[in-house]
Amino acid sequence: MTVAIVGGGPAGLSAALFTAKNGLETVVFDTDGTWMHKAHLFNYPGIGSVDGSDYMEILRSQVDSFGVERREEEVTDVSADGDGFAVSADDDYDADYLVLATGANRDLAESLGCGFDDEGTVEVDVSMETTVEDAYATGAMVRAEEWQAVISAGDGAAAALNILTKEKGEHFHDFDVPDDADAVFGGMVD
Ligand SMILES: Cc1cc2nc3c(=O)[nH]c(=O)nc-3n(C[C@H](O)[C@H](O)[C@H](O)COP(=O)(O)OP(=O)(O)OC[C@H]3O[C@@H](n4cnc5c(N)ncnc54)[C@H](O)[C@@H]3O)c2cc1C
Repeated sequence: MTVAIVGGGPAGLSAALFTAKNGLETVVFDTDGTWMHKAHLFNYPGIGSVDGSDYMEILRSQVDSFGVERREEEVTDVSADGDGFAVSADDDYDADYLVLATGANRDLAESLGCGFDDEGTVEVDVSMETTVEDAYATGAMVRAEEWQAVISAGDGAAAALNILTKEKGEHFHDFDVPDDADAVFGGMVD
């Protein structure tokens, strides 16, 4: 099963982390325009103070460790072909699930045919699934304001867990315990 994620900010890479860690082939397309390059985080729970670009470097390294394929490519179109999704970038890519994480840019959600709410944001349920089955929208695109990195990361995680729940056929939790630490890359991500 393949997951295509458009956007490699906190939302997209958070989704990618969970899907790849749990065995789904995951490709992230990103043009590196994340707002994180303008930010300094003092409000990301568990992290005291970190430059936004440094945070992105850590997050990219973390997802790379779990086998995410990151492509520095712009996605120009996405469409549902009845049996998954067609993603147009430098090459065409087919995926079973699609996670949109393009920041406040909602163009791809619109061309895919996702429903929008009264505020002009993409309509999603609590798992971040849009009105198009198996297509998710996460992060800044689903909120008119209240844009925070931790909220985007949470949206990405919610989308990924819903995808994993569908794939496993039962409610899925990505729970690890201290004894797992040695099994997961020696317990540390470089
Ligand atoms: C000046 C400033 C300061 C901030 N300070 C803080 C702060 O202190 N704390 C905090 O929590 N938040 C802060 N934020 C907000 C925070 O940066 C955002 O909430 C967060 O980056 C949103 O994450 P996201 O993943 O939804 O979108 P983004 O981080 O914007 O990521 C979207 C990604 O998608 C890519 N993309 C878009 N379209 C395409 C396409 N068609 N194909 C491929 N890639 C595409 C973009 O290049 C980008 O890399 C700040 C923002 C700004 C502007």
